[in-house]
Amino acid sequence: MKCLKRGVALAILAAWSLTSLQVQAYEQDKTYKITILHTNDHHGHFWRSEYGEYGLAAQKTLVDGIRREVAAEGGSVLLLSGGDINTGVPESDLQDAEPDFRGMNLVGYDAMAVGNHEFDNPLSVLRQQEKWSKFPFLSANIYQKSTGERLFKPWALFNRQGLKIAVIGLTTDDTAKIGNPENFTDIEFRNPAAEATLVIQELQQTQKPDVILAATHMGHYDNGNHGSNAAGDVEMARSLPAGSLAMIVGGHSQDPVCMASENKKQVDYVPGTPCAPDKQNGIWIVQAHEWGKYVGRADFEFRNGEMKLVHYQLIPVNLKKKVTYDNGQSERVLYTPQIPENPQMLSLLTPFQNKGKAQLEVKVGDVNGHLEGDRSKVRFVQTNMGHLILSAQMARTNADFAVMSGGGIRDSIEAGKITYKDVLKVQPFGNVVVYVDMTGKEVTDYLTAVAQMKPDSGAYPQFANVSFVAKGGQLNDLKIKDEPIDPNKTYRMATLNFNATGGDGYPHIDNKPGYVNTGFIDAEVLKQYVEQNSPLDVNAYEPKGEVSWQ
Ligand SMILES: [Zn+2]
Repeated sequence: MKCLKRGVALAILAAWSLTSLQVQAYEQDKTYKITILHTNDHHGHFWRSEYGEYGLAAQKTLVDGIRREVAAEGGSVLLLSGGDINTGVPESDLQDAEPDFRGMNLVGYDAMAVGNHEFDNPLSVLRQQEKWSKFPFLSANIYQKSTGERLFKPWALFNRQGLKIAVIGLTTDDTAKIGNPENFTDIEFRNPAAEATLVIQELQQTQKPDVILAATHMGHYDNGNHGSNAAGDVEMARSLPAGSLAMIVGGHSQDPVCMASENKKQVDYVPGTPCAPDKQNGIWIVQAHEWGKYVGRADFEFRNGEMKLVHYQLIPVNLKKKVTYDNGQSERVLYTPQIPENPQMLSLLTPFQNKGKAQLEVKVGDVNGHLEGDRSKVRFVQTNMGHLILSAQMARTNADFAVMSGGGIRDSIEAGKITYKDVLKVQPFGNVVVYVDMTGKEVTDYLTAVAQMKPDSGAYPQFANVSFVAKGGQLNDLKIKDEPIDPNKTYRMATLNFNATGGDGYPHIDNKPGYVNTGFIDAEVLKQYVEQNSPLDVNAYEPKGEVSWQ
């Protein structure tokens, strides 16, 4: 009896100490070596580029080598992704990014943040992708509206040599704004920084991790100047308790976060050169550009509760620069020594690559006549192909009108069946559909400038839902959707990021507050429009003299 009482007392004492004393998993005065590897914004690039750059097969070799090196020094590795695995390469898109997720399993990813492009497909596809993946998809700030429940795990816990490491996931609250509205009817994106504050508190109270990291998909904006975007990693780090996260593994802005000076990124970071990550409020912020072009490597030493960054590097994955010689010939030269491709990864991915290529030949729709995309036409006159492409952009963005330079149209489509490959020949550059909301006054100024672009140049504009008579540098009888333009009304214009950022000499609109980069690749937008509107009737897209120059 006496003995039992003592046992109960000890158990009570143990329970008391677990909750009220500072309980750490780590050993006093022991140095733990923890290496965090990271990538982000993979966007379907499971396969190497046409120049042999990046791809998961080389990434696997690189990561395996680092794992061996770190293990030999008694350390441990954690491999994180800042999200946006989906969308950008047709061979991946056509297979719902299955090769990408299965490839990430083989590389050995531990967790990823949910990115905005994970919602380019319906939620059912994203759930399937979670099933393919051996690692968790994390986001603390995405909720189902109808139930008030989180749609993803807010965090994951990892044990590395007895050290307890928590990884929180967060997703930009711009997601619903820039994505396909029909996928967000019952999904709510709460403020990531506010959610992070809650989750960090909860973790500290219930799990008491030794280290907390965040894998985020929110963007890195110098000095927190996020413009028309939702707030990103810098703003969040500043709002949290100092040093409450050891590091933010970011994504979304698709930059190498390598600082030139305080609060200022290097503008043209050169692969293979030193990279100083950002640090805000005692929290490191990293990002590894995009597409698996780099693997970021952060070597930490953890001792007595402190996580110290001892070395950081962005490792290029077979990136090449174009070198042009005096005789006019050019070649692509590696920045850093060649990383061979892992054979096991190649045998996993090759069948997917072949299947993806074959699917490009599959019919996506039909057309009853010739769609004119020839260089001798699209740079001189309005064409039905111009109208078709711009109609697809307007359909995706709910825009009132659309504009693009004719030089962006590279091929025609003949009457009959249309394949994805045909569409990719028309729009081969992988430009991104964007939109901007402007007043009628701003629209008039914009269209007046664009209408000055001369025929017989790539800049010659194609218009949809716009009519005018241009004379002496002015636009007379300017109409949008057949209605005279109202200087005080707000109009939405769709175009490509190429023109929006000043390409072909078009006015910059990417600095306007109503500017949104949707992230949707032009050819994919056109392909889906063809699928949904086939059989296409060429007459519906035929120009009828809406715009003229006198
Ligand atoms: Zn993104």
